Amino acid sequence: MTASPETLRDIVVANHILAHEEVVDAYGHISFRHPDDPEKYLLSRARAPELIEADDIVTYRLDGDAIDAGDRRPYSERMIHGAIYEQRPDVNVVIHNHSYEVIPFASTGTPLRPVTHTCAPIGRDIPVWDIRDKFGETNHLVVTMEQGRNLAAALGGGTIALMKRHGCVVTGTTVAETVMKAIYLQVNAKLQLQTMMIGEPDYLTDTEIEECTAMQQAPISLDRAWEVWCRRAAKNS
Ligand code: MN
Repeated sequence: MTASPETLRDIVVANHILAHEEVVDAYGHISFRHPDDPEKYLLSRARAPELIEADDIVTYRLDGDAIDAGDRRPYSERMIHGAIYEQRPDVNVVIHNHSYEVIPFASTGTPLRPVTHTCAPIGRDIPVWDIRDKFGETNHLVVTMEQGRNLAAALGGGTIALMKRHGCVVTGTTVAETVMKAIYLQVNAKLQLQTMMIGEPDYLTDTEIEECTAMQQAPISLDRAWEVWCRRAAKNS
């Protein structure tokens, strides 16, 4: 089943944005639930996000089996995506990354919470999942559906989960909203660490998180951000 050229273009652009904003490096990926079949998702073959082109996008079943891969090798961690789509019908976009700014919070378990209004969409309670709890000492990659489902369970009804000693998953309903959350999760991690170096952060309250999230995700903010992210990514592709 082929996705539309518009969908393929959105996936390519989202990959380039995440690479340009340094949320991903050689690793990390973004998938879309297939717009025409909720039991499938679209994800690039194993390739660094900044290099991805439309021809790299493969269709997978939720269990991780590729439908049209041909000789295109899949990401070993694709199970992250299918397991989350399986558990969360409301999720249409999944990002997995190893953001260097986020890792310290993922490794210590120090709660990552919004320190400024633009970062409100990351939410109040971000769980930390540890592969070691159920699977012991591994190479930390999520390579089976059992591991993926365990991660999805830790995500619960939220939109972000940190992965101890590894990275995070960021989920959402639209591509722009999810990319924004992944970018600002990284921004918040950097600002929170800087804040903690000189004092105690005075975090947004629950009401402020709600108010600021509504503002950030409204077209007036989201469209403006998406336009400049696209422009910056295009200059480098
Ligand atoms: Mn990974």
